[in-house]
Amino acid sequence: MFDWDGTAVPDRRADAGRVRTLVEALCAWGFDVAIVSGTHLGNVDAQLGARPAGPGHLYLCLNRGSEVFAVGPTGPQLIERRTATDAEEAALTAAAALVVGRLRARGLDVALVAERLNRRKIDLIPAQVWADPPKARIAELLAAVEERLSASGFSGLAEVAEVVRVAALEAGVPDPRVTSDVKHIELGLTDKSDSARWLFAELRRRGLAASAVLLGGDEFGAIGGVPGSDSLLLVPEGAAATALSVGVEPNGTPKGVVALGGGPDAFAGILEDQVRRRETGELPSFDPDSEWTLAVHGLDHHLERVHETLLTLADGRIGTSGAPLLAHRASNPRVLAGGIYEDEGAESHLLEAPAWAQVAGSLEHPGGLRRVLDLRSGLLFEELNGPDGRELQSVRFSSVARPGSVALRVEGAEAGLVNSRSLLPPSRHRRWRRGRVDGCDWLQVRAAHGGVTAATANTSHGDAERRRLDRLGVYLLDADSVPRPAEAVAQLHVVQEAGFERLLTEQRTTWGERWEHADVQIDGAAELQRAIRFALFQLMASVADSGETALGARGLTGPGYRGHVFWDTDVFVLPFLAATRPEAARSLLEYRIRRLPAARTEARALGRAGARFPWESARTGRDATPAHATTRSGELIPIRTGDQEEHIVADVAWAAACYLDWTGDEAFRRGPALALFVETARYWASRIRLDRNGRGHIDGVIGPDEYHEQIDDNAFTNVMARWNLRHAAEAVAVEGSGSVSAAEGERWLELADALVDGYDPTSGIYEQFSGFFELEPLVIEELAPRPVAAELLLGGERLQAAQVVKQADVLMLYQLVPAEVAPDSLQPNLLYYEPRTAHASSLSSGIHASLFARAGMLEKALAALELTSRIDLDDLTQTTAAGLHLATMGSLWQALAFGFAGLRPEGSCLRVDPQLPDRWHALELDVCFRGAHVTVRADGRNLTLTADSPVSFLVGDRKRPLTATPSGLRLKRRGHSWIEVKTP
Ligand code: BGC
Repeated sequence: MFDWDGTAVPDRRADAGRVRTLVEALCAWGFDVAIVSGTHLGNVDAQLGARPAGPGHLYLCLNRGSEVFAVGPTGPQLIERRTATDAEEAALTAAAALVVGRLRARGLDVALVAERLNRRKIDLIPAQVWADPPKARIAELLAAVEERLSASGFSGLAEVAEVVRVAALEAGVPDPRVTSDVKHIELGLTDKSDSARWLFAELRRRGLAASAVLLGGDEFGAIGGVPGSDSLLLVPEGAAATALSVGVEPNGTPKGVVALGGGPDAFAGILEDQVRRRETGELPSFDPDSEWTLAVHGLDHHLERVHETLLTLADGRIGTSGAPLLAHRASNPRVLAGGIYEDEGAESHLLEAPAWAQVAGSLEHPGGLRRVLDLRSGLLFEELNGPDGRELQSVRFSSVARPGSVALRVEGAEAGLVNSRSLLPPSRHRRWRRGRVDGCDWLQVRAAHGGVTAATANTSHGDAERRRLDRLGVYLLDADSVPRPAEAVAQLHVVQEAGFERLLTEQRTTWGERWEHADVQIDGAAELQRAIRFALFQLMASVADSGETALGARGLTGPGYRGHVFWDTDVFVLPFLAATRPEAARSLLEYRIRRLPAARTEARALGRAGARFPWESARTGRDATPAHATTRSGELIPIRTGDQEEHIVADVAWAAACYLDWTGDEAFRRGPALALFVETARYWASRIRLDRNGRGHIDGVIGPDEYHEQIDDNAFTNVMARWNLRHAAEAVAVEGSGSVSAAEGERWLELADALVDGYDPTSGIYEQFSGFFELEPLVIEELAPRPVAAELLLGGERLQAAQVVKQADVLMLYQLVPAEVAPDSLQPNLLYYEPRTAHASSLSSGIHASLFARAGMLEKALAALELTSRIDLDDLTQTTAAGLHLATMGSLWQALAFGFAGLRPEGSCLRVDPQLPDRWHALELDVCFRGAHVTVRADGRNLTLTADSPVSFLVGDRKRPLTATPSGLRLKRRGHSWIEVKTP
């Protein structure tokens, strides 16, 4: 970002050919270039004449911060304009008249020389005296002006500026901006700081940190007591940028601005240097801002697999572990192919694909290794500085803009960079073959159905001293037939055509856009902030935006649970995506929809109606739950969840309803969602047993608390089934469904009403299942510090007979279907069940954090939230090496959004009801609600709601909605309620 006149060109008549060539080259290398000037488009564009073809962008930020143009091959296009209202224009006119009058009254003869859009310009020195003062003679000009001013008794330029400011305020100019180029004094509604702020916001959307920005100018230092015009570029959001001045700067530059001098020539030299760095393939540097990075120093033999999992790069199709480039015996380079399963049924597991990110050689001295994952734009940096002089720097990424495409750039003095095999076969798989066509390597891995074919190409530059390797690759995945090598190679050619720099730019832009709609910021909790970003990053990376995503419990980050799909996806992960990236949530639902026929078959096999989704699901959608497991002591024990953990049926329907609540997607509501609601309701209708008194029961199930098997009337299962029946009846009544008769809908409602739910109105507590209150009254909180694997502590038999709960069970109802539980019953159930919960599943603590926040128990909420945020980062369950716990990460977001922010769709409104711990200065969330991008920002006393198209909010316990718009809705807390703050 740089100033035009005086920085890029000596004056407005100079030939700008050199800058034009440089700007076009920079854009071609993926740089975004912004030129800032007080003047208008005609002037700058005629002089510059650049027509860049991308991938980088050229912006002209003109008219003193009031306009932005994007310049492409066909010329400039206006993308942003701040227009003055009639009242603002009138105020400017009045202010200018007032200023001229006041200055003349003191004997200073000045004239109003320009009345342009948004601004007024007042001549301080007659034009004929200094017609076009060269910048180099600024000190001379200043002396002339000051002499003139002092003749009228002014102390200097600063005093005149103050006269203008005061007059502007008196005339009613909102936030007047006063600047001076010495010769003139200008008053306007905007200035260069608006350009800078616009640019930093735009770069944030492109996934670029302020630290990656170079700010160039020639007038940062104050002149005559008035801040230099380029100092306005130094806005707080750009504090991490590098600022440099090529101007004369007679009074020095502000702190932090490098004074280089040398004028436009020196500036062109700087741009040339940047182009040269790209031409020689210099590695991008990473954002050192710790809230956006996860760094691993060295290589710890015991933790290496955990670290490689944490550093996973995924793109929704493949997931690549963060193994170092060079081989090490503790390391395990691993690539998983989403949705491609090997074997069938319980044996099925996610297919391992070829690895692409290794180079020949082994890591002898891992002490000098450093890996840094940049969460902002999904780049993994790796550096090696060995004591033996071995040295490597690299960056790699899995392209979220083109899922299945990968890129690696390595630089160093390493022989392995010359003839590295670019694809390694998966370690434990035998059915693979490889070959070479057209200078590309390919490697194909077959599954029983379908498979994966990868193709990569290396290009290397440099000499033995210093070598650079660029590797691009593609992965084709097909669940039905193995993709042909020729197809993969053809696809690779497309990626090669785009090239490393373009892929990198796309990667940053796509991640930037994702964050813009999904970020959660907590002011005052840096470590938590980083953990949250890590969780959201991995959640976003795991799911594709189109087709179907079979998201296993560990996503693409590890083989744990064989890649099988559980309720983790529907209930824990999906809400985050429904609220931030609806197309990704839709692809999760697509996975279920395509398996509706299989779920019908499952139901029929059990003699029931409708559709029964299996507890564990893989390729076919038939039950994939293993029948047995081997304990640590080698004992074979049966697994009954496949037969009994039936709440999954309602969970899938709930996920569809959750997506609809956030998006209002009508086509989905009328089509696939309706089919899901109807078929799941039919299942429950055929599953419920009516007793002699007409009360409904669901016998022989396992609830979320898997410590208790073969139980009757699990409150969670029954209430979810009740919700499912009612929801389906309502959907059919609204949308109409030919296949459902009025009588069938009626029947669902009767059954829903008949179902027992274990609620005891006297205590206000739900009995977790029939007979739970008669079990041994153990309070696990009193027995052991939690989380605790209570099955190991007490043994399976004792557990089955005790009131020890594995994870949120009854309490899940308050998270999922608060309208289905008795009013005001959260507190008694939370106080009863939480001390009895072992939190032995990573799915537990996040839900508790959420509910504690809702109950206003903020210290407990915070403790549970912090625990949740560390589960993978600190490997608390010692299972992270087998993959990240995506459900935990989803629950972390839910705790922040539903719990602390109190954000929840209610019909066409969004409910918001923040509850923040004192330690946080503020909480800010970005979400998408029914097509609008919404930002919610709350601190202890204030709440600001902004939406790019109008959104109705229900705030706190207010009954009537308020509308948020782009200019924001502001509220203040008054006791327990929120009062709207009206801004004039
Ligand atoms: C939990 C389940 C979860 C599964 C996969 C189990 O330990 O009890 O609720 O679905 O892990 O994450």
